Amino acid sequence: MSPKKNSTNNPCCDFCGRPQSEVGMLIGGANASICAECVSLCSEILNGEAPSQQKKKESRRPAAFKAFDVTPAQIKRHLDDYVVGQNYAKKVLSVAVYNHYKRINSPHKPDNAVIQKSNVLLLGPTGSGKTLLAKSLASFLQVPFAISDATALTEAGYVGDDVENILLSLIHAAGGDIKLAERGIVYVDEIDKIARKSENMSITRDVSGEGVQQALLKMIEGTIASVPPSGGRKHPYQECIKIDTTNILFIVGGAFVGIEGIIGRRIGKKRVGFGADNSSVRLQEEHLLKELQPEDLLKYGLIPELVGRLPVTAYLEELTHDELLRILTEPKDSLIGQYEQLFRMDGIKLTFTDEAMAEIVNKAERLKTGARGLRRIIETAMLDVMFKAPDEKGLVDEIIITPEVISCGAEPEKIMKTNLN
Ligand code: ADP
Repeated sequence: MSPKKNSTNNPCCDFCGRPQSEVGMLIGGANASICAECVSLCSEILNGEAPSQQKKKESRRPAAFKAFDVTPAQIKRHLDDYVVGQNYAKKVLSVAVYNHYKRINSPHKPDNAVIQKSNVLLLGPTGSGKTLLAKSLASFLQVPFAISDATALTEAGYVGDDVENILLSLIHAAGGDIKLAERGIVYVDEIDKIARKSENMSITRDVSGEGVQQALLKMIEGTIASVPPSGGRKHPYQECIKIDTTNILFIVGGAFVGIEGIIGRRIGKKRVGFGADNSSVRLQEEHLLKELQPEDLLKYGLIPELVGRLPVTAYLEELTHDELLRILTEPKDSLIGQYEQLFRMDGIKLTFTDEAMAEIVNKAERLKTGARGLRRIIETAMLDVMFKAPDEKGLVDEIIITPEVISCGAEPEKIMKTNLN
């Protein structure tokens, strides 16, 4: 048959939709046409990787496949460039990641010692840097990275995304290279929201969190997962992408609001039993997280098998006023640094006064969303300034952001250029 034509009456591939002018030859079937590139993609799905694609992909495969020669200290130094504070979590993660990639990349695998995967559980308040830590690790190691939200997942049979969709994002991040995706990092956020209801009455989610935990467990411990190529729900007879999750590093995170109470009660009971006085029972909340034990996670509603597969646990502290201030300027891609650069492109110097930065942090602290609030506060305050500045290009030398710009949308101070002709 002659190839189908698109709206502009040009023959096109029925699989990718691109016109013949773009894809070259089209092979016509009874009811459809296909281009050479789609043929080779189909062959990849049916037979594993096509040799031509394989070569291209290998040239893109970076550190993830080389002998692992970075140390935990080097990993932590990289994290220090992007993440303020959280030293304990950085240390724990650096060691876990070092062990993980050493385990999968080492040419000398001891046959008799099976080294377990060090999947990581991060506990800490919203906006304290859990996702940022995972993302910064992946970028340092040059491995694909995917973020997913546990609350969007449901076990098979319910409305929602299949758990395997997490892996689809990872495959996309790897540019379709399955072998590369199999060495990636997945961050699953809000794991605390799929806690079992029976253990924790404050969780009001309807669909059984336990079912999702079971599904996640399989993936985390290592399985050959079948991923529907277009996402959503799997349906029978659908051709799925197979991906081995054995070497994927899973980092799961959550705020675990209220877990301090569980830890406190456990410690309290024991300490009282050993004759401790009440003041030692009333430990500061953040210090309680240091005493976290697997049994507290079970009490919170995680299933024992999942807790068993998350051998590495790290907590992140709530960011202090000073740390929030440092976040504004210190990281390599700091928020204020980004704005300064934007204005520099228009030939304008942008300056935030110390008082303005303190006001940004005060506002963020009132929002109680950690560092997450910082960007929104700056964006809101800067909208008008950003709107007007391009018209003032060549006239204004410096724009100074005062605390009033942040607190009540006042006009910033401006220093005009003096040598205008
Ligand atoms: P969480 O996952 O703990 O809720 P995120 O890592 O998503 O928090 O943080 C949201 C944003 O806040 C990050 O993209 C980053 O800009 C900023 N941020 C949070 N914590 C830190 C930190 N410790 N250092 C630097 N920036 C941070």
